Formats: sequence, structure tokens, C-alpha cells
Amino acid sequence: MQFVDLAKQLEAIRGTVEKRIKTVLDHGNFILGPEIKELEKKLAAFAGVKHCISCSSGTDAILLPLMANNVGPGHAIFTTPFTFIATAEVISLLGATPVYVDIDPDTFNIDPAKLRQAIQDIKNNKKPTPQFPDGLLPKGIIAVDLFGLPADYDAINAIAREHALFVIEDAAQSFGGMYKGKMAGNLADAAATSFFPAKPLGCYGDGGAVLTNNDSLADVVESLRVHGKGQHKYDNIRIGINGRLDTIQAAILLAKLEVFGKELEQRQEVAARYSEGLKNAVKVPHVPPGYKSAWAQYSVVSERKKELMTRLQSAGIPTAVYYPRPLHLQTAFSSLGYTEGSMAVSEKASDTIFSLPMHPYLSTQDQDRIIDCIIK
Ligand SMILES: *Cc1c(COP(=O)(O)O)cnc(C)c1O
Repeated sequence: MQFVDLAKQLEAIRGTVEKRIKTVLDHGNFILGPEIKELEKKLAAFAGVKHCISCSSGTDAILLPLMANNVGPGHAIFTTPFTFIATAEVISLLGATPVYVDIDPDTFNIDPAKLRQAIQDIKNNKKPTPQFPDGLLPKGIIAVDLFGLPADYDAINAIAREHALFVIEDAAQSFGGMYKGKMAGNLADAAATSFFPAKPLGCYGDGGAVLTNNDSLADVVESLRVHGKGQHKYDNIRIGINGRLDTIQAAILLAKLEVFGKELEQRQEVAARYSEGLKNAVKVPHVPPGYKSAWAQYSVVSERKKELMTRLQSAGIPTAVYYPRPLHLQTAFSSLGYTEGSMAVSEKASDTIFSLPMHPYLSTQDQDRIIDCIIK
């Protein structure tokens, strides 16, 4: 049994994937070929946003809108510690400071009440350092849609407006999810998604996209993606990166997009079967009314996590832990000075959470074997 079964997916779509790749080989436009624009148009339509700018990874898809907002030294960017390193490393990469805000224990996403408090604390200048004696300037928020479930954007966007901050939606796991009638990718000033192979919509390499309704932000991101280009490639008007998506990866994504809607429904069915079967054995994922998860991961909480994971492993059932150590306790961020206990909800989640096999092609037989093993 696979945790994410990409081979089964390929079996179902190999014909279209090979045809799409062959077209790219035949036309030979490997960089920014016609599939790039076609994909961007289709992704924008899918998410209901005005602009989609594809790029080289989900990480760059967060980096680019930060760069477009001129984030740099002395800026505080508020985010969750219960996420993948990429969400926060790009903040530090630009010389800005991640300010961690603990999560809601039921959704595992950033807690709006704690976000409001964290912004106020920075504004009250509680963290002056030798480098920034006047304290940090609150500049933006990166909310993460963990496991595919959107964060609470009505609350987050309202807090951002009060303090004139921008909001980036890290939708690396949530493309295809929904929040109060809007698609993930359309919930903040800009969104970043990832096409890493194991994500709900994955390619066969690295890839990502920035989504936004803001015309000028889209222009700047498009320029930053190609070395800060102006009128043409050799007219450079700002410092950018080499952040393009390969044409071949766009071709693969176009093939996968054809079945993506159906796959999202299959993920819903897998999640529903798990929740029905496991609701009395472990804490199953909470999806608040008006939300729809893209089910990148199906994660459960149990005080008996270690025992359960060992039993599942002996039965040949793979599991994974997202995330075994929250970012505020990672060595890479030790200079920020957080200590154990400072983000209690995230720390507790790290200790008690684990994820079960989740993909659209998981058979009901395999699922029932997983459920039975946990209940036993
Ligand atoms: C995967 C992921 C990223 C980074 O995406 P890459 O394409 O691997 O660079 C960022 N944030 C979250 C929450 C992710 O899960």
C-alpha cells in the first residue's frame, strides 16, 4: 500500500500525459512555451482569480509576492509554526523576521485571536533588538491552508485591513479546497500553490503558481519571475529570480487538470469513509461549516499515536507525521529565541498527530483494512 499512489494515477491518465509531453518535444519551446499560458488561464479560471503566474516551485510562489511587497530587514511577517519550512524560510531569506502565531487546535490553522494579539505586541514594541532598536514593522501575514483546509480568511483579512498588512495564502496543500463559496487560491491578496508531485495537483518535478486578483501585483510577480525583466529579457528593472515553470511540467499539469475535479471528489469520499469509520477511535479532522478541504492529507490525533503508528507499520500500512517539530523550535530559527512551551497548541499537535494514506485511488478494501487496524 502506498501513502500517495502516483503510479495508480499515471495508469489512469498515461495516454493524455504522453500525448501532451510529445507535443512539447515536437514544438521544442521548453521555456515559456504555449502550454504555460494555457495552464495559467485554466488554473485562474478554476480558482476564480484574475491572474495566475506559474513558477518554479511552491516555495518561489511564496517568495515572489513577498518580494513584490518589498519585504526586507526590519519587517515582521506573521505566520504559523505548524507548517512546512518553506512557508517561513522565504521570510528569513529576504532578511525579514518570521513572527510565529499559534494555531487553532481543531483546524491546525493560524488562530485569528492570537494573530491580533501578536500584531499588537509587535506594535507595542515588545521585541526591540540590537539590530532593530525600534522594534519590527508589521508588514504582512502568511496564512497556511494546512492539509488542504483553508484558514479563516474572513477573520484574517479583517485583522490585516485594520493594520494595513498584506495577506498571502499558502495554498500549497489546498488547491481545489473552498471557503465560504470561494475557491482556495482566491482568499487573500495573493496565493501560492505548489505542484510538488505529492500535492493534490502535482506535476512530475517541481512547480508552483502565484494567484491574485491584483493587476499590478501580477505584473511585478511576472517580472520578478524572469530576473526582474522590463520590456524584454535584457531590460532589467528590478532584482528578480529565475523562477519559471518548465513547459513540460505545464503539459503534465494540463493532462492532470482534466481529471482533477473527479479526483477531488474521490478524495472527499476517502475522507468521509475514514471519518465515519474512525470517529470513535481517534480525533478525526474537523471541517467547519462552509469549508471544503482539498484533502492533501488526512491527519488524525491520538494520545496513543506511537502505538498506533507501530501497529499500522507492522500491518504494512504507511503513515507520516506532518509536522514532527514546529518551526519555532527548528535549529534554523534558533536565533529568533523561541523556547519550548511558547507555542503550546502547535507543540501538542506535533506530539499527537499523524497522517494516513490519502489519494484519489485508495481502494475501499485498503481503507477498511486501515480503519480495522486502528480500531483493533
Ligand atoms: C509543499 C509546501 C510548500 C512548498 O512547495 P514546494 O513546491 O515544495 O516548494 C509550501 N508550503 C506548504 C504548506 C507546503 O506543503
